Amino acid sequence: MSTMKSVLSDLVVSMMPPYMLSSGLKKEINAFLYGLIGVALAGFIVGWPAIATIVYLIGYVIWLLRRMDAMVHWLSEGARPAKAPPTTGLTNDMVQLVHREKKYSRKQKNRYRNTLAQFNSLAADLPDATIVLDKSFEIRWSNSAALELLNIHPDRDRGQRIDNLVRNPEFREFLHNKEEQEELEMPGTGSSADRILAVRKVPTGKHMTVLIAADITQRVQVREMRKAFVGDVSHELRTPLTVIRGYLEMLRENESLDPEVTEGLAQITAQSDRMRGIVEDLLQLSKLEGNPLAENEGDTLNVSTMICSMVSTLHESTDTHQFALDLDESLAILGSERELYSACQNLLTNAVRYTDPGTTIDVSWQTGSNGEAIYRVSDNGPGIEARHLARLSERFYRVDAGRSRDDGGTGLGLAIVKHAAQRHGGNLTIESTPGTGSVFTITFPQSRCITLAQAVNQ
Ligand code: ADP
Repeated sequence: MSTMKSVLSDLVVSMMPPYMLSSGLKKEINAFLYGLIGVALAGFIVGWPAIATIVYLIGYVIWLLRRMDAMVHWLSEGARPAKAPPTTGLTNDMVQLVHREKKYSRKQKNRYRNTLAQFNSLAADLPDATIVLDKSFEIRWSNSAALELLNIHPDRDRGQRIDNLVRNPEFREFLHNKEEQEELEMPGTGSSADRILAVRKVPTGKHMTVLIAADITQRVQVREMRKAFVGDVSHELRTPLTVIRGYLEMLRENESLDPEVTEGLAQITAQSDRMRGIVEDLLQLSKLEGNPLAENEGDTLNVSTMICSMVSTLHESTDTHQFALDLDESLAILGSERELYSACQNLLTNAVRYTDPGTTIDVSWQTGSNGEAIYRVSDNGPGIEARHLARLSERFYRVDAGRSRDDGGTGLGLAIVKHAAQRHGGNLTIESTPGTGSVFTITFPQSRCITLAQAVNQ
């Protein structure tokens, strides 16, 4: 009987998949084969071996199906260990596997729960107000700093629209603005109304937004103090410099002075002029910085006329460069004449100062594809290495400090251009390729643009 069982066993095993059989399946096969052989022998003794075998097989299949059904039922009820169906062989293996998986997923769940709890407590203690919003700007989660800085309660205000709670028009605009805006400076709410916050919007997941508001009161105070200090110092230096300049003029009129003294006086005059230039530029910068014009503030400026007059003045003082103008004469802008004149002129004089004689300078004033106004000065001069570009508009940053000073540069020109542009809601971009040339572009938003025809009708 055991040889017969081993032949049948080999046959069944050869029909099995190539991976190692589980002990449960082996037990199952053994039990099935012993049963089959036993029933076949009994059938043989009573003279109905075939019928006995068929009845056995049908019975076995029904028994197997019932066990599977019990398993499915148990799994659909949550696979609780206490309710596990009676098992043998293969089903025993299945139940063990389910137990193991459940234990593993319980452990994983606990691990995730702990991580989430740690994250929650970490985020809750963040010094910056952090608020998670859904696509309709309803609050999903907020931390304790949000309560302190924006008066948003983590429980009470959950589900509320944030723009119903923070009723600052600039904040509303910032929230709904789909264009990328770096950050918004605004006052806090509730007991933090005297604080200044820098609010950032971080899109996350599908239609979710995280708002982060940092208290920058101290930073702003330091910035204002620095601005006021630079402004005051520059202002105070103006008068003594004017007096020095006056005396120098008087002394230089004296023709009986030694040539050496005359030379010395000329040097002092040049240096005092340079100092006066720096003082004037610093004063101008301190007025421009962080002080945007209101929406309708400014005069209607005919920029193309302004550019033409600058170019002809430059031509009168130096005829070393050619200018190619491409100006939209009907495009005007709402702004401060003094500031825009200074910004436009800085780019023109730089193009003359930093390129060789004979260079052609292209100047254009046109409307861009999105209705913005674009002032562009391009030259085919020596260009600027890429590593300098990001820092060019910082105060006193020069590529070649010696050359800039010799040419009477203060190192403040591009900083003035940048801040004048920003004060008008615009921005300065610089592109350059060494050996090919540079392109300086000021872009003004459409909201500041006006056609001269419109201006006349107003
Ligand atoms: P500066 O008073 O020294 O001209 P700016 O802020 O106007 O100060 O310019 C900063 C630096 O940018 C200059 O020192 C110069 O090295 C570089 N620069 C500006 N314009 C050009 C240009 N058109 N071509 C090459 N370099 C330029």
